[in-house]
Amino acid sequence: MTPTVPAGAPGKAPPWCALVGAGPGDPELLTLKALRTLRRATVLLVDDLVSDAVLALALRGRRRPPRVVWVGKRGGCRSTPQRFIEQLMLREALAGERVVRLKGGDPFVFGRGGEEAEALRAQGVQVEVVNGITAGLAAATALGTPWTHRDHAQGVLLVTAHAREGGAGPDWAQLGHTAAQGITLVIYMGMALLPQIEAGLLATLPPGTPAAVVQAAGTPQARSWLGRLHGLAAGAAAAGLGSPAIILVGDVLRAHRWLDAGEPQSPASPVCAATVVPPQRRRA
Ligand code: SAH
Repeated sequence: MTPTVPAGAPGKAPPWCALVGAGPGDPELLTLKALRTLRRATVLLVDDLVSDAVLALALRGRRRPPRVVWVGKRGGCRSTPQRFIEQLMLREALAGERVVRLKGGDPFVFGRGGEEAEALRAQGVQVEVVNGITAGLAAATALGTPWTHRDHAQGVLLVTAHAREGGAGPDWAQLGHTAAQGITLVIYMGMALLPQIEAGLLATLPPGTPAAVVQAAGTPQARSWLGRLHGLAAGAAAAGLGSPAIILVGDVLRAHRWLDAGEPQSPASPVCAATVVPPQRRRA
């Protein structure tokens, strides 16, 4: 599409916008570049998955704080329509504001950052993208297991369980084949579909395949369940886990010693402190 606004009109800074990854929640996991970019904002559009601690850091000590617009589901409101968000970003950028869109995790991982960047660039707005630590990575770290331990996995697949309006969801049985090849599955937006995910994967994966759910990874409220694929949905429900959460499936979780030894193990990192609920404890 041809830009309707020439970038860099004479004598004026070109319209500019940044998509910044806020990471999973812990402000210490924000990148230096993200923080520097945030502190240049005059208008800050904030996602519902962005933690208050990250926002507080972005605003701390600002003599002229940016105008903050929540564009998520906070306050019991429905999710702000994507088209509205894009129009708002465009309007503010064209008005000369330094617009920063602060998104949970990484802006280009399932966060519609790609759509936003396209919409803005099509109108001649310069778009800068600043990476953040994606929730799936924080989830694995919260469990103290890597995405790819070379004894167990050759790769990792980030997959969303959420189908686009009117579209079909992923083929879980097919993804089971992939996981069986030593590819760790990192599933986003899957909590409402846990029984279907479990059933679909069980079509091609052994019931004893390790599986885990990590809620609020990378925040002080992080909680998790670790067990087997057979019993995943029931286990997560019994542990009271809900969104936002990541589902991990794959042999790499065997790196978690107690899974085979039956011993609970404390979380590796206090920053990502997770409550690991071993199956035998849940039954108690
Ligand atoms: N851009 C984000 C993902 C947005 S999609 C990122 O890179 O992390 C929203 C989904 O991300 C949620 O449904 C959930 O599956 C996951 N998610 C986001 N924050 C999370 C967190 N702190 N802990 C666990 N999962 C999270």
